Amino acid sequence: MERLQKVIAQAGICSRRKAEELIQAGKVKVNGVIVKTLGVKVSGGDEVVVNGRPLTKEEKVYYVINKPKGTICSVRDEKDRQTVLDYLPKGIRIYPVGRLDYDTSGVLLVTNDGKFTNRMIHPKYHLPKTYIVNLQGMLSGEDIFRLKSGLKTKTEKYAPAKVSIKQKDYTRDRMIVELTIHEGKNHQVKNMMEALGHQVRRLHRSRFGTISDEGLRPGEYRRLKPYEIKQLT
Ligand code: URA
Repeated sequence: MERLQKVIAQAGICSRRKAEELIQAGKVKVNGVIVKTLGVKVSGGDEVVVNGRPLTKEEKVYYVINKPKGTICSVRDEKDRQTVLDYLPKGIRIYPVGRLDYDTSGVLLVTNDGKFTNRMIHPKYHLPKTYIVNLQGMLSGEDIFRLKSGLKTKTEKYAPAKVSIKQKDYTRDRMIVELTIHEGKNHQVKNMMEALGHQVRRLHRSRFGTISDEGLRPGEYRRLKPYEIKQLT
Protein backbone atom coordinates (compact mmCIF):
# COMPACT_ATOMS: atom_id res chain seq x y z
CA MET A 1 0.00 0.00 0.00
CA GLU A 2 1.30 3.44 -0.90
CA ARG A 3 0.08 6.95 -0.20
CA LEU A 4 -2.18 8.23 -2.95
CA GLN A 5 -0.10 11.34 -3.69
CA LYS A 6 3.02 9.18 -4.02
CA VAL A 7 1.30 6.82 -6.45
CA ILE A 8 0.15 9.76 -8.59
CA ALA A 9 3.61 11.34 -8.57
CA GLN A 10 5.29 8.04 -9.40
CA ALA A 11 3.03 7.63 -12.40
CA GLY A 12 4.86 10.64 -13.77
CA ILE A 13 1.86 12.97 -13.99
CA CYS A 14 3.11 15.63 -11.62
CA SER A 15 5.11 16.27 -8.47
CA ARG A 16 3.97 14.96 -5.09
CA ARG A 17 3.11 18.50 -3.98
CA LYS A 18 0.92 19.04 -7.07
CA ALA A 19 -0.70 15.63 -6.48
CA GLU A 20 -1.65 16.77 -2.98
CA GLU A 21 -3.24 19.90 -4.44
CA LEU A 22 -5.20 17.82 -6.96
CA ILE A 23 -6.45 15.52 -4.19
CA GLN A 24 -7.53 18.45 -2.01
CA ALA A 25 -9.25 20.07 -4.99
CA GLY A 26 -11.38 16.94 -5.46
CA LYS A 27 -9.81 15.99 -8.79
CA VAL A 28 -8.88 12.45 -7.77
CA LYS A 29 -11.13 9.40 -7.59
CA VAL A 30 -10.25 6.04 -6.08
CA ASN A 31 -12.51 3.19 -7.23
CA GLY A 32 -15.06 5.72 -8.42
CA VAL A 33 -15.15 7.79 -5.20
CA ILE A 34 -13.64 11.27 -4.84
CA VAL A 35 -10.91 11.28 -2.20
CA LYS A 36 -10.09 14.70 -0.74
CA THR A 37 -8.10 13.74 2.35
CA LEU A 38 -4.35 13.34 2.21
CA GLY A 39 -2.73 10.19 3.51
CA VAL A 40 -5.16 7.67 2.01
CA LYS A 41 -3.29 4.55 0.95
CA VAL A 42 -3.96 2.61 -2.23
CA SER A 43 -2.71 -0.66 -3.67
CA GLY A 44 -2.03 -1.84 -7.22
CA GLY A 45 -5.57 -3.21 -7.47
CA ASP A 46 -7.24 0.18 -6.82
CA GLU A 47 -8.39 2.22 -9.77
CA VAL A 48 -7.06 5.76 -9.49
CA VAL A 49 -8.45 8.45 -11.79
CA VAL A 50 -6.89 11.93 -11.94
CA ASN A 51 -8.74 14.72 -13.73
CA GLY A 52 -10.94 12.11 -15.37
CA ARG A 53 -8.03 10.03 -16.64
CA PRO A 54 -7.17 6.61 -15.26
CA LEU A 55 -3.65 6.28 -13.98
CA THR A 56 -1.47 3.91 -15.87
CA LYS A 57 1.80 2.80 -14.38
CA GLU A 58 4.56 4.57 -16.23
CA GLU A 59 7.35 2.45 -17.59
CA LYS A 60 10.63 3.01 -15.78
CA VAL A 61 13.32 4.45 -18.02
CA TYR A 62 17.06 4.66 -17.44
CA TYR A 63 19.43 6.71 -19.57
CA VAL A 64 23.09 7.56 -19.50
CA ILE A 65 24.05 10.86 -21.09
CA ASN A 66 27.44 12.41 -21.62
CA LYS A 67 26.53 15.75 -20.09
CA PRO A 68 28.04 18.61 -22.08
CA LYS A 69 29.73 21.34 -20.07
CA GLY A 70 27.59 24.48 -19.85
CA THR A 71 24.40 22.67 -18.86
CA ILE A 72 22.70 22.42 -15.49
CA CYS A 73 21.35 19.30 -13.84
CA SER A 74 18.09 20.76 -12.47
CA VAL A 75 14.80 20.20 -14.20
CA ARG A 76 14.33 23.95 -14.61
CA ASP A 77 16.58 26.98 -14.25
CA GLU A 78 15.62 30.48 -13.12
CA LYS A 79 18.35 31.96 -15.29
CA ASP A 80 17.02 30.05 -18.31
CA ARG A 81 20.28 28.22 -18.85
CA GLN A 82 20.28 25.04 -20.86
CA THR A 83 19.49 21.97 -18.80
CA VAL A 84 20.78 18.49 -19.49
CA LEU A 85 17.16 17.37 -19.94
CA ASP A 86 16.99 19.49 -23.10
CA TYR A 87 19.06 16.72 -24.72
CA LEU A 88 16.77 13.86 -23.66
CA PRO A 89 13.36 12.62 -24.88
CA LYS A 90 10.41 14.80 -23.86
CA GLY A 91 6.94 13.81 -22.68
CA ILE A 92 8.00 11.83 -19.65
CA ARG A 93 9.06 13.22 -16.26
CA ILE A 94 12.68 12.22 -15.82
CA TYR A 95 15.41 13.70 -13.66
CA PRO A 96 19.17 13.38 -13.18
CA VAL A 97 20.66 11.00 -10.63
CA GLY A 98 22.68 13.43 -8.49
CA ARG A 99 24.41 16.42 -9.98
CA LEU A 100 27.39 17.56 -11.97
CA ASP A 101 28.43 21.21 -11.90
CA TYR A 102 27.50 23.55 -14.77
CA ASP A 103 31.03 23.42 -16.17
CA THR A 104 31.56 19.68 -15.57
CA SER A 105 30.98 17.18 -18.38
CA GLY A 106 30.55 13.44 -18.44
CA VAL A 107 28.55 10.47 -17.28
CA LEU A 108 25.18 11.29 -15.80
CA LEU A 109 22.34 8.85 -15.24
CA VAL A 110 18.80 10.09 -15.84
CA THR A 111 15.66 8.20 -14.83
CA ASN A 112 12.09 8.37 -13.56
CA ASP A 113 12.77 5.70 -10.93
CA GLY A 114 12.96 7.35 -7.51
CA LYS A 115 14.03 4.21 -5.68
CA PHE A 116 16.89 3.65 -8.11
CA THR A 117 17.98 7.29 -7.72
CA ASN A 118 18.03 7.09 -3.93
CA ARG A 119 20.12 3.96 -4.07
CA MET A 120 22.60 5.46 -6.53
CA ILE A 121 23.22 8.55 -4.45
CA HIS A 122 23.04 7.03 -0.97
CA PRO A 123 26.49 7.21 0.69
CA LYS A 124 25.95 3.71 2.11
CA TYR A 125 26.49 2.12 -1.33
CA HIS A 126 29.87 3.81 -2.00
CA LEU A 127 29.47 3.76 -5.75
CA PRO A 128 32.84 4.64 -7.35
CA LYS A 129 32.90 7.73 -9.55
CA THR A 130 35.90 8.41 -11.75
CA TYR A 131 36.87 11.91 -12.84
CA ILE A 132 39.43 13.17 -15.32
CA VAL A 133 40.79 16.29 -13.71
CA ASN A 134 42.68 18.87 -15.71
CA LEU A 135 44.64 20.66 -13.05
CA GLN A 136 46.57 23.91 -12.87
CA GLY A 137 49.78 23.07 -11.04
CA MET A 138 51.28 19.72 -10.17
CA LEU A 139 50.29 17.37 -7.37
CA SER A 140 53.24 16.64 -5.12
CA GLY A 141 54.00 13.23 -3.67
CA GLU A 142 52.57 14.46 -0.40
CA ASP A 143 49.35 15.68 -2.11
CA ILE A 144 48.88 12.24 -3.66
CA PHE A 145 49.50 10.56 -0.32
CA ARG A 146 46.89 12.81 1.34
CA LEU A 147 44.32 12.05 -1.37
CA LYS A 148 44.96 8.32 -1.12
CA SER A 149 44.82 8.19 2.64
CA GLY A 150 41.74 10.40 3.08
CA LEU A 151 42.08 14.15 2.78
CA LYS A 152 41.13 16.21 5.81
CA THR A 153 40.42 19.93 5.56
CA LYS A 154 39.25 22.40 8.20
CA THR A 155 35.63 21.70 7.34
CA GLU A 156 35.54 18.30 5.61
CA LYS A 157 36.87 14.79 5.79
CA TYR A 158 37.02 12.90 2.51
CA ALA A 159 37.26 9.13 2.16
CA PRO A 160 40.42 7.73 0.51
CA ALA A 161 40.54 8.28 -3.27
CA LYS A 162 42.31 6.41 -6.05
CA VAL A 163 44.78 8.64 -7.89
CA SER A 164 46.51 8.05 -11.19
CA ILE A 165 48.63 10.66 -13.00
CA LYS A 166 47.81 10.58 -16.71
CA GLN A 167 49.82 13.47 -18.12
CA LYS A 168 52.29 16.11 -16.97
CA ASP A 169 52.86 19.38 -18.83
CA TYR A 170 55.88 21.04 -17.22
CA THR A 171 55.92 24.03 -19.59
CA ARG A 172 52.42 25.13 -18.67
CA ASP A 173 52.55 23.73 -15.14
CA ARG A 174 49.51 21.52 -15.70
CA MET A 175 48.62 17.96 -15.00
CA ILE A 176 45.88 15.49 -15.92
CA VAL A 177 44.85 13.24 -13.07
CA GLU A 178 42.35 10.40 -12.91
CA LEU A 179 40.62 10.47 -9.56
CA THR A 180 38.15 7.87 -8.26
CA ILE A 181 36.02 8.79 -5.26
CA HIS A 182 33.26 6.92 -3.49
CA GLU A 183 31.31 9.88 -2.15
CA GLY A 184 29.26 12.59 -3.82
CA LYS A 185 29.76 15.69 -1.72
CA ASN A 186 29.05 19.10 -3.18
CA HIS A 187 31.82 20.23 -5.58
CA GLN A 188 33.88 17.46 -4.08
CA VAL A 189 36.69 17.18 -6.62
CA LYS A 190 37.16 20.95 -6.93
CA ASN A 191 37.14 21.35 -3.16
CA MET A 192 39.64 18.53 -2.65
CA MET A 193 42.02 20.05 -5.19
CA GLU A 194 41.53 23.53 -3.79
CA ALA A 195 42.42 22.21 -0.33
CA LEU A 196 45.72 21.10 -1.86
CA GLY A 197 46.23 24.53 -3.41
CA HIS A 198 45.31 23.63 -7.00
CA GLN A 199 42.66 24.90 -9.35
CA VAL A 200 40.61 22.56 -11.54
CA ARG A 201 40.70 23.82 -15.13
CA ARG A 202 38.34 21.16 -16.56
CA LEU A 203 36.43 18.33 -14.99
CA HIS A 204 34.96 15.32 -16.74
CA ARG A 205 33.31 12.28 -15.16
CA SER A 206 34.39 9.27 -17.17
CA ARG A 207 32.65 6.62 -15.08
CA PHE A 208 29.75 6.27 -12.67
CA GLY A 209 29.78 2.83 -11.04
CA THR A 210 30.04 0.38 -13.93
CA ILE A 211 28.81 2.88 -16.54
CA SER A 212 31.39 4.72 -18.63
CA ASP A 213 31.22 7.49 -21.23
CA GLU A 214 32.49 5.12 -23.92
CA GLY A 215 30.92 5.77 -27.33
CA LEU A 216 29.03 8.86 -26.18
CA ARG A 217 30.01 12.26 -27.50
CA PRO A 218 28.96 15.31 -25.45
CA GLY A 219 25.15 15.57 -25.51
CA GLU A 220 24.69 11.99 -26.70
CA TYR A 221 22.72 9.51 -24.63
CA ARG A 222 21.60 5.90 -24.68
CA ARG A 223 19.26 3.69 -22.67
CA LEU A 224 20.91 1.53 -20.03
CA LYS A 225 20.71 -2.17 -20.79
CA PRO A 226 18.83 -4.38 -18.28
CA TYR A 227 22.08 -6.05 -17.18
CA GLU A 228 23.65 -2.62 -16.57
CA ILE A 229 20.75 -1.62 -14.32
CA LYS A 230 21.14 -4.91 -12.42
CA GLN A 231 24.89 -4.37 -12.03
CA LEU A 232 24.30 -0.94 -10.53
CA THR A 233 21.68 -2.02 -7.99
N1 URA B 1 33.16 17.31 -8.11
C1 URA B 1 33.06 18.60 -8.47
O1 URA B 1 33.77 19.45 -7.93
N2 URA B 1 32.19 18.94 -9.42
C2 URA B 1 31.40 18.04 -10.07
O2 URA B 1 30.63 18.40 -10.94
C3 URA B 1 31.52 16.69 -9.69
C4 URA B 1 32.41 16.36 -8.70
